Amino acid sequence: MTALSNVEIPPQATPWRLATRLAPAAAALAAAGLLPGVVDNYWMQIAALACIYWVLIAGLNLIVGYAGQLAIGFVGLLAIGAYTAAILCEKLGVPALAALVVAGCSGAFFGFLIGLPSLRLKNFYFAMTTLGFATIVTQIALGWGSLTGGGIGLPGPVFPPPFDTPLGFYYLALAMAVLATYVLRNIAISNFGRGLVAVRDADVAAEAMGVPVVRLKLVTFTFSGGLAGVAGALYAARQTYITPDAFTFDLSVMFFIAVLIGGRGRIVGPMVATAVLTLLPEIAAPLVAWSSFAYGLLLLLVVLLLPGGMAEYIDRIFKKRSVAARITSPKVAAIAGVIARPDAGPPSPVRVKGVALAFGGVRALDGVDLLVEPGTIHGLIGPNGSGKTTLLNVISGYYAPNDGTIRLGEEDMAGLPVQSRSRLGIARTFQTPRVLGNLSVLDNAMLGAYSHFESSFPLTALGLPRTRREDHAIRERALQALTAVGLAHCGQSRADQLQHTEQRFLEIARCLVMQPQILLLDEPAAGLAADEIDNLASLITKLSTLGVGVLLIEHHTDLVFQISHHVTVLNLGKVLASGSPAEVRSNKEVIHAYLGT
Ligand code: ADP
Ligand code: MG
Repeated sequence: MTALSNVEIPPQATPWRLATRLAPAAAALAAAGLLPGVVDNYWMQIAALACIYWVLIAGLNLIVGYAGQLAIGFVGLLAIGAYTAAILCEKLGVPALAALVVAGCSGAFFGFLIGLPSLRLKNFYFAMTTLGFATIVTQIALGWGSLTGGGIGLPGPVFPPPFDTPLGFYYLALAMAVLATYVLRNIAISNFGRGLVAVRDADVAAEAMGVPVVRLKLVTFTFSGGLAGVAGALYAARQTYITPDAFTFDLSVMFFIAVLIGGRGRIVGPMVATAVLTLLPEIAAPLVAWSSFAYGLLLLLVVLLLPGGMAEYIDRIFKKRSVAARITSPKVAAIAGVIARPDAGPPSPVRVKGVALAFGGVRALDGVDLLVEPGTIHGLIGPNGSGKTTLLNVISGYYAPNDGTIRLGEEDMAGLPVQSRSRLGIARTFQTPRVLGNLSVLDNAMLGAYSHFESSFPLTALGLPRTRREDHAIRERALQALTAVGLAHCGQSRADQLQHTEQRFLEIARCLVMQPQILLLDEPAAGLAADEIDNLASLITKLSTLGVGVLLIEHHTDLVFQISHHVTVLNLGKVLASGSPAEVRSNKEVIHAYLGT
């Protein structure tokens, strides 16, 4: 079977398909809606509490589950929301619903602040700053008695009818939980969701894909903070009276492990975990005294035994992990449709002039000149450690050179960050493939078009049809790119099920989806079998005939000499020779230093 014949085009949403897909959600919603008919007021208040926690955890899920940021102190944001609402209602007489909105805004603002350290600090250190934040908030709540009531506390907001009864309040909390789930899902399945997973699993590659890592993190923290603020206001109303000791460290850990147990990058898992963790202390009352211990133990067990959470565990049981079909022959003709950019001007060359870069005493690059013209293949060869990868990193913006210039057309790229260069059309692969193992092959390919999406974060959260259409168009393009490299039939498999060599082709597909002007390939043929190298050669040649400039770093000199228009040889960071393949091949110095006799 050819790759084209079993391309899995995502089905259009027919009413029937939509109905079957929505059925589980509708059933869950119906069950939640009918709950008050079955249980008494006490349990309804517990259910309301689970909904409130979920509003916060839905947002935290984006931070911890998707973006992989260890934010442990989210109870601080819950407290901010709770005190904002309580103070507004109690001291200023603001209506409770308006206070709910303001609490969301103040949560968003503090969410943004919490997010700032994540730009510089990694894992553990960032986790400590969020804990510090939570401690500071409770200490201020305790110390600023005139505003917060100190240790005595404040009454929570009272919502107007019909939300002033346990039944009405439950429905209000449920409505907020449904809304939070809806926006979480919309973000999760969007390019922002993919971008967040890229930040978590491959932040270096994320930048190369044009993901604005800093902005995306901050927007997500702001958004999650907003949800936490809303949860805080509801929490204050549910408690009827708040004191600083309502916002314990245990609660913070509970939020965090709900995401972890449920599974990173999932929605239903964390939701179920939230319900279970809320109910557990009620069912097993003695647990309350042990909660710190129990949560700590649970956290340890999850991290050690189930790093992917329950969801992944269940996945593993039910889903076959093998990919039956392996890579098939590429359909290079499909490339034209993928990289065609009707609005683009003529492609520009990349000009490297006098570039030098030293790492301590090592002169990795020492006055390198190089020109990659559109529509040509420029081979770059040289012994290990001669500076090839470093040059690629300098061109794509990971390192700033100590000296020299890099221009794309007329534009000097000095100071331009990686993601801006990728937006200008400089795509690259990595010497070790960097794909997102947890995402599908198709999602990985779609990530290449990150910067082509126009819908903003809030619009995407609302799930407007425009965003869906945009997503669909990019999905089609990504499928075509997968067809081009021969991976279309694996579109729905997890990327970590692919073999190493197939991941290289996936990286190339991802680059195609970017519609690049210049493609930088770092040893794409390493580890490939002979027929795969032929496939690669035809892919690269096709790209160059379509006007893309290719910089090909390779040790397979046969391949380089066969398909390149121009070859440069690096040795000890200097250009040893540069010219047509025939010239370079017969150059005595090159033969001596690299090719051997
Ligand atoms: P190549 O890709 O040609 O094998 P590299 O560009 O990876 O070579 O490396 C060139 C030289 O620069 C090597 O001596 C390597 O050790 C050094 N180098 C590369 N990256 C770094 C880094 N981040 N820090 C320190 N030294 C580096
Ligand atoms: Mg290298």
